[in-house]
Amino acid sequence: MIFYRRIPTRRYSDYRLYRSILREVYRYRCAYCLRHEYFLGGEAGCCIDHHRPIGGLHARPELQNDYSNLYWCCWECNENKANTWPDPEDYIQGSRFIDPCETEDDHDKHLHVHADGTIIPLTNAGRYTCQILKLWRRHLVFYRAELYRRHVEVEEISSLLSEKKLRPELREPLEAHLRTLLIMLEPPVFDRPR
Ligand SMILES: [Zn+2]
Repeated sequence: MIFYRRIPTRRYSDYRLYRSILREVYRYRCAYCLRHEYFLGGEAGCCIDHHRPIGGLHARPELQNDYSNLYWCCWECNENKANTWPDPEDYIQGSRFIDPCETEDDHDKHLHVHADGTIIPLTNAGRYTCQILKLWRRHLVFYRAELYRRHVEVEEISSLLSEKKLRPELREPLEAHLRTLLIMLEPPVFDRPR
């Protein structure tokens, strides 16, 4: 998945003020594990990640409020990533975090997801990202498998509904089930009460 970062209408000196625009840009999903906020307890299940860490060995504190360095991210990925950043020699070898805002860094180019939700790195960047962020976690495997099943079901039901001769008593429950599936694939968004 690629995220298209739009330029904000104004610049802020406090990165936290980019929160709402980041949520929209990242389609309410974690930039790394791609889980939707809906499955993480809503907005509170995510936070703002500094792609290039602002602390630690390879810190770039000057990027703290730099919009291009801000990613919407679940708390788990954020904690796993922490201040980790590859050494320059590893970076040259491709061991780095996937950057889902770069066209060449589509998750699918670096990671292959099987129907059962297991994930296989295809590149050094995929391996590094998978390892540091622990994308092999059991509940993520389950989540990806569930998502895959729903996509398959949507295709099957859509195909059945395209049959003109489908009896109305069969069509109505299928349409209702399809609506439920589609909501789970593109879930509703809830803001945190303020
Ligand atoms: Zn995540």
